[in-house]
Amino acid sequence: MCVFCKIVAGEIPSKKAYEDDSVLAIYDINPQAPVHIVFMPKEHILTCADDIDASNAEIISKIFVAIAKVAKELGLSDGYRIINNCGAAAGQTVQHIHFHLLAGKEGMSESMI
Ligand code: AMP
Ligand code: ZN
Repeated sequence: MCVFCKIVAGEIPSKKAYEDDSVLAIYDINPQAPVHIVFMPKEHILTCADDIDASNAEIISKIFVAIAKVAKELGLSDGYRIINNCGAAAGQTVQHIHFHLLAGKEGMSESMI
């Protein structure tokens, strides 16, 4: 089981930012910005953005609906970034598709996570 599947299963503790029947969002253990939340599907069905197609677009849509909801709840009106690291060369370390929400001063910098 990958680390995110273990978090979904409750085998590894996490600080949850959002949860519904198919989406989980947790605060990143190694934050790269004042607000750093990782959104994932509960099911390990895709590795990264490259795997998205018409057959699985619904869960991606649900993730982005959750992102917008959390961003509003947290009052991120100054803006935020959404990042998907796709592949090792892009810095991907967990092979369970996820989207980073970064906000705050550092999140607005040029640096990639
Ligand atoms: P990526 O490098 O895009 O694959 O992102 C994986 C992210 O998961 C990194 O930012 C890690 O800090 C984060 N991460 C790894 N393990 C945990 C954990 N147990 N709880 C919260 N975040 C984690
Ligand atoms: Zn997984």
